[in-house]
Parts: sequence; structure tokens; C-alpha cells
Amino acid sequence: MSKTMNVSEIFGENVFSDRVMQERLPKKIYRELKKTMNEGKELDPEVADVVAEAMKNWAVEKGATHYTHIFQPLTGVTAEKHDSFITAPREDGTVLMEFSGKELIKGEPDASSFPSGGLRATFEARGYTAWDCTSPAYVREDAAGAILCIPTAFCSYTGEALDQKTPLMRSMEAVNEQALRLLRLFGNTTSKRVTPSVGPEQEYFLVDKQKYLQRKDLIFTGRTLFGAMPPKGQELDDHYFGTIRQRIASYMKDVDEELWKLGVSAKTQHNEVAPAQHELAPIYAEANIAVDHNQLVMKILKKTACQHGLHCLLHEKPFAGVNGSGKHNNWSITTDDGINLLDPGKTPHENIQFLLVLTCILKAVDEHADLLRESAADPGNDHRLGANEAPPAIISVFLGEQLEDVIEQLISTGMATHSKKGGVLHTGVKTLPDFAKDATDRNRTSPFAFTGNKFEFRMVGSRDSIASPNTVLNTIAAEAFAEACEVLEKAEDFDLAVHDLIKKYATEHQRIIFNGNGYSDAWVEEAGRRGLPNIRSMVDAVPCLTTEKTVAMFERFNVFSRTELEARAAIKYETYAKDINIEARTMIDIAGKQIIPAVIRYTKTLGDTISSVTSAGVEADVQTELLREASALLAETKRALNELIRADAAAAEKEEGEEQARAFHDEVMPAMQALRAPVDKLEMIVDKEIWPMPSYGDLLFEV
Ligand code: ADP
Ligand code: MG
Repeated sequence: MSKTMNVSEIFGENVFSDRVMQERLPKKIYRELKKTMNEGKELDPEVADVVAEAMKNWAVEKGATHYTHIFQPLTGVTAEKHDSFITAPREDGTVLMEFSGKELIKGEPDASSFPSGGLRATFEARGYTAWDCTSPAYVREDAAGAILCIPTAFCSYTGEALDQKTPLMRSMEAVNEQALRLLRLFGNTTSKRVTPSVGPEQEYFLVDKQKYLQRKDLIFTGRTLFGAMPPKGQELDDHYFGTIRQRIASYMKDVDEELWKLGVSAKTQHNEVAPAQHELAPIYAEANIAVDHNQLVMKILKKTACQHGLHCLLHEKPFAGVNGSGKHNNWSITTDDGINLLDPGKTPHENIQFLLVLTCILKAVDEHADLLRESAADPGNDHRLGANEAPPAIISVFLGEQLEDVIEQLISTGMATHSKKGGVLHTGVKTLPDFAKDATDRNRTSPFAFTGNKFEFRMVGSRDSIASPNTVLNTIAAEAFAEACEVLEKAEDFDLAVHDLIKKYATEHQRIIFNGNGYSDAWVEEAGRRGLPNIRSMVDAVPCLTTEKTVAMFERFNVFSRTELEARAAIKYETYAKDINIEARTMIDIAGKQIIPAVIRYTKTLGDTISSVTSAGVEADVQTELLREASALLAETKRALNELIRADAAAAEKEEGEEQARAFHDEVMPAMQALRAPVDKLEMIVDKEIWPMPSYGDLLFEV
């Protein structure tokens, strides 16, 4: 046994945390910095210099030689460039370790190679990174040594957001402002800030590194492009919450240790539904920190896997036929003095505020269902959503039986008489039941479920950043709160107006509530009747980014400008086309260079066997039948390969943008399917010794 770890001792030891700042910064500077953090103001350059010096000294004591502005460009992963602390050698040949406030606050990576969707013409390729002082700096240890990482936002010189973090922070500001406005109407004078909290549950697969290295599809695309189902899949449900194997347990221990040192509160871990699939959930944190931490989690999951001879697959659908991986995004909105706006509360007053917030969110989700769906769209997630394992591609809200009943009563009886007589509230309920209890009756098939005091958005893909779903959630909530405030601020009788508004929103947006089985075909039909959008693929989702409705909302709350949205749509189409193109080319490569040659070898062996067996005067019926079957499938494979080559080339020739993305979706994807089908059949008949790569069985069960 390795030595036990003292969690409270190591937790956050590599973070330039509030405690470290208090210890190391002069009181005045500390106060200034905190003020900047709390009020979102600009940092004074002199303060920045002192903070930078303290941060550098702290990092150097931890062995750091470099610093980096870590940012989240629109590639879905983080980017960084390392700068060492050393200064130019002095006359005596020695160097100093220096780090200025300017270097802390602002970086200028040569950013011309990051996706910008045309926002940044190459002649003005510069972008800059700006310190997000609300997300703490930390020292990361890896093969490159120890590096001081500074979380930053990434913008063009003209101020357009080129990253995930900038809009997220703008959306946090929007929801803060509008939620406070709403709270004031309810008589709250004490809360100073409202922040969205997020707890993302991260799913992932672990496979053996050596086997991984024998699969070009996993190496190039993160998912298997070929592969017949093994005799056993996930039908026994024996992996879910099963005993964690020793090799995996030791991996999880290392992951936790590393995350804890970085101040990420990794909390739960368990085996998931599919074989070789696992999950890690941290304790929820403020949205922008949760987003940064989730990127760290993904990074550490990958890195630690290498150290254990494993490979971590974060792709949404690494294996056809077994469950894919997602990320459940738990979201709530809380004040600085601890009021969770999604908590029904215990008093009638709290109940009413809750019902208004809830119906605002129903309205927001109903009106922007397409946008929420889009925020979870990436090429990998297309294989999950609507595929009877993940939430359907239709957005609906699960409220649970009790709450749905309350909403129904409100809609039907209304109790519009403004009277509190007889202890009956004018909302039609005395006090609300305890919904946390009801949450035990979980509906796992709903994409957007109320779970007691938070919403769980379950559509997000495992590999994707959670920034964009949370940006959308914050902004649509802000818009709904703002619209409610506009009505209520003008009301003569506030109580009556609140009541009417709750009833109005509930009635108008009841169609978004669905408590049944989201995986059933009946729901798809029912949703159609209700007029709810069913957006099946990423290419179908992207257009909603630039509709007038979307642009108006994002511009109103300064989260995205029209130009930024157009750029994002362009990047999404480009990403889609590139991803599918890589997948197609990988299939072409594997089929042409590995599978067809292997099948040819196999058929030759069969042919040789048939000749020698028959020349010995014995019939070779089985061999002949196999040879016929294999040859027919081989011919089908070659035809499908030719067709894929043609379709891919045709799509690649198209002009970048929606048309090209659609060509990849409509023409190339089906051609890939057509190539996979005969190959998977061949895998079932060709000698395992000859088959050029590990099977699903090898990958999923030999970890
Ligand atoms: P599940 O049953 O869905 O696995 P868990 O209890 O594991 O639920 O919680 C899932 C995630 O939700 C965790 O990351 C947790 O910290 C987070 N969470 C809990 N309460 C809140 C809240 N009020 N706001 C946001 N996230 C929350
Ligand atoms: Mg969950």
C-alpha cells in the first residue's frame, strides 16, 4: 500500500488562494485586489505589480520556472504558451527571475492560428489575454516542470471575444444584475451579488494504452470508426456502480490527489453504465471557476491515464452500441448571502419568489430551446442526442410529480382573488411541499431536470467545454428576469401582479414541461404536436445562433455582438466539416491500408486451404462458403471505400461554411456508415490473428 494522504493538508496546496494572498500580500494591496474581484473593476497597475511579485515568489518556491496565460480559444480545449521568469543575463552572466504586473494582467500570444470565424483578419492577427482574477492562479506540475498558470480571457485587439470565458463572464454579469433587480422587488435589500453555481459530472472511458495505440481511429479521432459488438455489452448493468477494479482505483486515487492539490474539489467517482466507463463529479463552484476546473479535470484525467498505462477517452461516443459519455451540468443561482433562487424555501413568501423564478426559467427554456440545444452541439454529441441512451434532441423540462401538480393547479384554478384569507395563498398553495424529497424520483431521460434546488442540464457532451451551455443558461435566465421585472416594476399591486405573472408564464409555457420517458418514440410525436423543436444534428442547430431573436437577446445583455455570433456560427460549421473530414480520411486510411490487406491475406489462406484440401480428395465446403462470404464483403468494402473517397473529396471542395458542413453531414456521414457495415461483418468471420486491430471486446473488457 502506498502511504495514505492527508487531504486537508494537500487540498489547494498548489493554488494561489485567498489564504496565500492574505499571507503574502500587504493588507492594503489585498483589500484592493479583493475589491477588484468582487466588483469586477480594473486592477490598478501598481497593485498588479505587487501581486505579480508575490505570485512569482510563491510559484518559484514551488519550483516554477515558467508562467503561462491559460486561455480557452474556440477549439474546445485550453491553450497556453510558456514564458520563463528569467530576465536577460546581467553583465556578470547571472539572471534574475522576474514577473511584472503588466505580464500578469495582459499577455499577447500570437493568436493568428486560433479559430476566429473571420473576426480577426490575419494582418491584425494579434489577440490578447487578460487575467480573470476571479479564478485563482495555480502551479501545475508536469513533465515540463512546474508552471504558474494564470486563468485568462482571450480577445481580439478590437475587443471581440475569441474564447469561451469572455461571454461566460459577461453572462454572469447579466444574470447578476437582473436577478438582483428581481430580488429587490421582493424586498431583499441585503444581497449584493448573485452568481450562477455549476457542478459538472464528467463521464469518461479508460482503455489500455497499448491497445489504444493499435487503433488509428482512436488516435486520430477519439472514437472507434469500425468495430463489431462483443458477445457481451452493457446489457447486464453489472458495471454501473460496480466494484472499481484495482488498476482503475489506483488511477482514480492519483487523479483525486492531483485535483485536490489544484483546489478542485473532486467529490464522487464511480463506474458508469458502459463497461470501461467512469464518472467524476466535483462539488459545485461559481460558474467561471467550475468551467476552468472542468478543463483541468479533463486534462488531469488524460495525463494521469498515461502514467498508468491507460488512455482516457473523452469523446462523446467512443464505441457504437454502448452508451456514450456526457456531462451533466448542474446549475443554480445563489446570492452572496446564501439564498439559492432555485430553492423553494420554507415560507409562503419564499415559495412565491421561487415560483416566479421557476416559471421565468420555464419561459426562458421554452423560448430559447433551440439555443440551449445548440450549446450542447458538437460533432461527437450528434451520436448521443436522440439515440435512446442520452437525452433526446428535444428540449423539455422535468419538474417532478409534486411540482408539476402545483403548476397545474395554478394554471387551472389560479385563485386570482387577491386574498390571503383562510390561510390560502393567492398562488393557490399554502406552502409548497419539500421538493428535495420528490427529487429521489429521478427522471434520467430528461434533458433539463429540476432536482430539488438546481437544474440539471444533461445534454452536454463529455468532451465539450461547459462554458457555452452556462453562457446560454445565464443569459436566458437574465432575459426572463428582466422581462418579469419590467412588468412588476410598473405594477400597482405587486402581490397580485406576481400571481398573475406566474400564472401567465406557467400557462404559456406549459408545453415545455414533460415528466414522461424522453427516450420513447411516443414523446417524439407528442413533442411534435406541442410544436417543440427536435434538432437532430449539430449542423441543424447552428443556424439558431444568428436568428434575430438570439442576436437581440445577446446584444441586449452585452454577452455577444452580432459579429461575434456570426463568427461563432462560422467556426462551428468549420469545426464540423474538419472533424468529419478527419474521420472520413481515417476510415479511408484504415480500410485501404489495414483492413482490405488483412482480408486479402485471409482469403488467400482460405483459397490455399481449399486447393490443398480438395487436391487431397476431400471436400472443402466450409472453407468455400467462408471464402465466398468474405470475398463478397470484401467487394462491398471496396465499393463503399471508393464511394467514401468520392463523397469526401466532393465535400472538401465545397466552400467553407454551412453548405460544406451539410455536405459532410448529408453525404459523407452516410458513406462512412456504408463502409463500416461490411467491415464489421468481416471482423466477425476473419481469423482474430489476422484482424489488424484490437476488438471492442479487447478494448472494453481488458482494462
Ligand atoms: P447525481 O445524483 O445527479 O449524480 P450528485 O449529488 O452527484 O447528483 O450531484 C451532482 C452535482 O451537482 C455535483 O457536482 C454537485 O456538487 C452539484 N450540485 C449540488 N447542488 C448544487 C447546486 N445547488 N447548484 C449547482 N450544482 C449543485
Ligand atoms: Mg446527475
